[in-house]
Amino acid sequence: MLVEKLFNWFLCLFNKKKGEYKLVIVPELPQEPKNKVLYIEGKEELNDYWYALLKCPCGCNENIMLNLIDDANPCWFVFIDGSNFSISPSIWRTKNCRSHFFLKNRQIVWA
Ligand SMILES: [Zn+2]
Repeated sequence: MLVEKLFNWFLCLFNKKKGEYKLVIVPELPQEPKNKVLYIEGKEELNDYWYALLKCPCGCNENIMLNLIDDANPCWFVFIDGSNFSISPSIWRTKNCRSHFFLKNRQIVWA
């Protein structure tokens, strides 16, 4: 039925929105990050970013800190395009929950 199809489509849109991450640039990373927020420590006006922080999306409640300084290793890049953003390469935790995922276009994509 068409109505049902439309309803599913709406539901899909809603879920998609719900799963989206927000990007927040802060002078200092918070002690307790919120769910579905990617925090970046740095200076937006200088386009200079040092660290990123997010809560592990698997639900284990641990914080994941990423280094964005390219002369240290390992190092990640955050691509910001208007309100859209992605992190590269993928995030792979080597301890505890061992989650492996991408953050692409504001969404978690499990590897
Ligand atoms: Zn986890």
